Amino acid sequence: MSSPTCEDEGLPSWAQSWNIPFRNMMIGEKVLGKGNFGEVRDGAVKVEGEVFKAAIKTLKASESNNDRQNFMEEFRTLTKIGRHPNVVSILGACQHDDILYVALEFMPNGDLRTYLRNARSQDDDEQSTLSSEKLIQFALDVAKGMQHLAALRVIHRDLAARNILLDNQLVAKVSDFGLSRGEDIYVQTSQTRVPTRWLSLESLTYNAYSSKSDVWSFGILLWEIATLGATPYENIKTKDLMSRLEIGYRMTKPSNCDDEIYNLMLMCWQVDPAKRPSFNQLVTRLTSMADNPNEQTYMRMLPKTEEYMHMMIRPEFDDN
Ligand code: ADP
Repeated sequence: MSSPTCEDEGLPSWAQSWNIPFRNMMIGEKVLGKGNFGEVRDGAVKVEGEVFKAAIKTLKASESNNDRQNFMEEFRTLTKIGRHPNVVSILGACQHDDILYVALEFMPNGDLRTYLRNARSQDDDEQSTLSSEKLIQFALDVAKGMQHLAALRVIHRDLAARNILLDNQLVAKVSDFGLSRGEDIYVQTSQTRVPTRWLSLESLTYNAYSSKSDVWSFGILLWEIATLGATPYENIKTKDLMSRLEIGYRMTKPSNCDDEIYNLMLMCWQVDPAKRPSFNQLVTRLTSMADNPNEQTYMRMLPKTEEYMHMMIRPEFDDN
């Protein structure tokens, strides 16, 4: 709750236009999740007289300098991105009693990976709600969000189904900008966490990141969608992955997946970044699939839970 004796402290100058007075920020009891730094709580914010449900990310002054810098970088990216229907957008922010609060639009249906995995165990009736068309729509939503980021020259660097959140209409939105950078090409010099299984060859080899390395990760995400949330390269140890990719190994076609979708994945995993499609091209391709659902079934839903057993989930490899 707001304390009447404490003044709100200022935000950095680049964030001024997003400032919300602390009295207009309601922070709930429920912890939605722990981020890499600080936590995310449910809540609400009042902006221009209107109240919005929000997910509120916090950073305490006591966090390490590195965490503070990363959180500020994420905050700066969010202000730069502004609003887009396929990106989890910032509603406002406030610095109060040495805590930075960043309010994001609330996404009630959780993350895409959990959603897909839960769909595996639904019975046939319920499962009919998750169709090939819906899966293509998820992929198209993400591609549109990424098209917006690429146009703003923001590199996400952690694109994966676990970082896509779903709104009340199941619209998929790109989230978690904790590793994002606002540069054309970024070479990572520090040893922070890396999501190895989603990384392009040049990111693994040279720590080099660009929108085209995000395109590689998009290919992995497409594979996660087709397999209803399987773990990429589930039979390969993280330390062996780079050498396997270098000699040309790529994940095989999921059995329920049409050639056209698999070819898109393979194009995203080309060694030469310039040969990979752009997000503009991916949006065009996926739009034409979404507009012609009767042409073919791009990602068939398998009839029984057991059929997904070979599309394995390996929690120990899930995030790295
Ligand atoms: P990470 O741990 O990957 O850095 P975040 O800090 O972005 O993830 O968020 C941690 C968790 O908080 C997420 O996994 C999700 O459960 C929840 N969360 C984050 N943002 C939102 C949101 N806008 N709406 C609802 N829940 C959210």
